[in-house]
Amino acid sequence: MFLLLVVKIPKVQNNLNPERVVGVDLGINVPLYAALNDNEYGGMSIGSREQFLNMRMRMQAQKRELQRNLLHTTNGGHGRNQKLQAFKRLQDKEKNWVHLQNHIFSKSIIEFALKNKAGVIQMERLTGFGRNKNDEVDEGYKFILRYWSYFELQTMIEYKANATGIEVRYIDPYHTSQTCSFCGHREKGQRISQSIFICKNPDCTKGKGKQEKDGTYKGINADWNAARNIALSKKVVDRKKK
Ligand SMILES: [Zn+2]
Repeated sequence: MFLLLVVKIPKVQNNLNPERVVGVDLGINVPLYAALNDNEYGGMSIGSREQFLNMRMRMQAQKRELQRNLLHTTNGGHGRNQKLQAFKRLQDKEKNWVHLQNHIFSKSIIEFALKNKAGVIQMERLTGFGRNKNDEVDEGYKFILRYWSYFELQTMIEYKANATGIEVRYIDPYHTSQTCSFCGHREKGQRISQSIFICKNPDCTKGKGKQEKDGTYKGINADWNAARNIALSKKVVDRKKK
């Protein structure tokens, strides 16, 4: 006699803390930076700008070469078609590379959240992202916005988060990189370079980093600071601007 049992497999229980939030910064220096709302040290950078730039440059150069070849093919016909196809293949290769990187990056974000038992991931809404108060795109973001598919990356993070029971929220992107994540002070010029942030609030101790012997401050990692602001933000918005 056989007994047949139908077993319902429960959704993976990850024992996530609904109060712990991972903030994801889409950075200029590194493609991604993750930080936690309740941890003053922890964080993770994902991907490298150099690797990204190198790959991109190489592909651009190949494309230019092919284009030049195409211009010099005057007789048309078979040779031209072949070159057009090669060009198309190169474009596909480039797209696939960005796609693959987005898969790797989104996976890393989910792993970071699970490792820290974070129940929520917060990201910046892309409408208005990288723009200053005059609604112009900041210089540093121009390049990255042109070459990276952040929308795809966010979509991947979203569906992978859903599968593991992590909630995804979008927040207002304004001032996340110009505000001190320790004291909340916002002032122009605190992000003294693309990678370093120094809080200008005289009473703030943690937002300046280590003090040097000459009294100046080393500053804190600007991308980490932005990621932490994103994790701490209460300005939750719709993904698509209304
Ligand atoms: Zn501060």
